[in-house]
Amino acid sequence: MVVGDVTTGTEVLVIGAGPGGYVAAIRAAQNGLDTTLVDRDAYGGVCLNYGCIPSKALISATDVAYDARNATEMGVHADPVIHTDEMQEWKEGVVDQLTGGVEKLCKANGVNLMQGEATFVDDSTARIAHGGEGQGSETIAFEHAIVATGSRPIEVPGFEFEHDPIWSSREALEVEEPPEKLLVVGAGYIGMELSTVFAKLGVDVTVVEMLDGIMPGYEDDVTRPVKQRADELGIDFNFGEAASEWEETEGGVVVTTEDEDGEEYTYDADKVLVAVGRQPVSESLDPEAAGVDVDENGFIRTDDQARTNVDNVYAVGDVAGEPMLAHKASNEGIVAAEVIAGEPAALDQQAIPAAVFTDPEIATVGMTEAEAEEAGFEPKIGQFPFRASGRALSTGESEGFVRIVAEQEAGFVLGAQIVGPEASELIAELGLAIEMGATLEDVASTVHTHPTLAEAVMEAAENANGEAIHTLNR
Ligand SMILES: Cc1cc2nc3c(=O)[nH]c(=O)nc-3n(C[C@H](O)[C@H](O)[C@H](O)COP(=O)(O)OP(=O)(O)OC[C@H]3O[C@@H](n4cnc5c(N)ncnc54)[C@H](O)[C@@H]3O)c2cc1C
Repeated sequence: MVVGDVTTGTEVLVIGAGPGGYVAAIRAAQNGLDTTLVDRDAYGGVCLNYGCIPSKALISATDVAYDARNATEMGVHADPVIHTDEMQEWKEGVVDQLTGGVEKLCKANGVNLMQGEATFVDDSTARIAHGGEGQGSETIAFEHAIVATGSRPIEVPGFEFEHDPIWSSREALEVEEPPEKLLVVGAGYIGMELSTVFAKLGVDVTVVEMLDGIMPGYEDDVTRPVKQRADELGIDFNFGEAASEWEETEGGVVVTTEDEDGEEYTYDADKVLVAVGRQPVSESLDPEAAGVDVDENGFIRTDDQARTNVDNVYAVGDVAGEPMLAHKASNEGIVAAEVIAGEPAALDQQAIPAAVFTDPEIATVGMTEAEAEEAGFEPKIGQFPFRASGRALSTGESEGFVRIVAEQEAGFVLGAQIVGPEASELIAELGLAIEMGATLEDVASTVHTHPTLAEAVMEAAENANGEAIHTLNR
């Protein structure tokens, strides 16, 4: 202990107030446990402050302008003027409302809130360094700890984020004056969402990607409509190239990329957004001091109760591994809190959905056809195109499809892939179907409201059974 430290105690110390940590803290307090939540930055973590929420706010705002500008077919003629500073103000308002809500909810549930950086001293104490000069530190004794320290963007060597023209997603989301030319390194989901935002703001966007297509991990027919829309937006793609170095020029930067044969290419830009993935934040916490094992990539290993190798220390969210998604973090946070409270909770979810808020959106849950085959199933597939959906056509957005993967005999739903309007919302029905062990028949015979996009889910289930009404059956 440092001389002069104040020592306090808590039953549950939650480190990190993102969607993993704050949800864990609220549930622990709801279970009657004396709970302290500490964060060195802002309540709500990356998700509310620098990730999910600000990105979705900017996506929605730029969509409003884009849709208005492209509605002449509907008889609407408009030429919206975008004031990026006002857009940012609105986005900040959304973020403030949500982060303020997190703080109020924590307090209302009796969670003790603490600002500062936590470092383990051992497996029952941590030191909290309060930010700023003269703010001091305190030692806190805990019975249980939940580590929810999240993740940060991976830096490409030479492209460190401290140099102004090199942006991570965080700087990109805070921009008040969009650059004329933006080079995006990485065509994963963050690179694609932000490329779309900037293209809709009128920025000249070029993407370089080491692999040979956008969003690796998704099937080709799922990403195709997104690539097509990106092409229409004028985004220029260069695949099979890795960014190797950059230098400042009078008007901006020149970035050099290299393909696998060593051939070099150069790109001019005003700013460079590097979006090549995220890595866990664990080292500042010194998990080893508590005896917690960290793997070679910095992730903390956990079991199906979110427990680390140390009995009273749990880890949830991005720091505990893939998929690095906010809803997975919250789900783990709830399990950790309930296990500490003595409840028989476990991470036994059948499938975790994922959504990409590109144009159009992509959402998936469970197995693809190939994954089902690999798992030994002989899958039955049903698909319904949005161009056959009355609701999709009446919104002017009819790209894409709903696909359901099911087991052959009883028709249990195994997975789904959706690309198209509101895919991120529609996937929830299929997540529930998997979780409940529902069959194609259950989905098909559930009466869906007309006219809605959700009818496409019902029709895809009917299609798998050879019974679709509004599309030809397989
Ligand atoms: C641009 C962008 C868009 C995204 N969009 C989506 C999306 O649409 N949907 C989705 O599901 N996910 C999305 N994500 C991912 C999502 O943000 C993360 O999966 C989620 O935030 C993880 O939550 P977490 O609680 O594990 O950690 P985080 O949200 O990263 O929070 C961790 C917190 O821990 C604090 N902390 C770290 N170390 C310490 C320490 N030693 N002491 C005290 N505090 C500490 C940090 O300050 C931070 O507040 C997006 C991410 C980005 C960057």
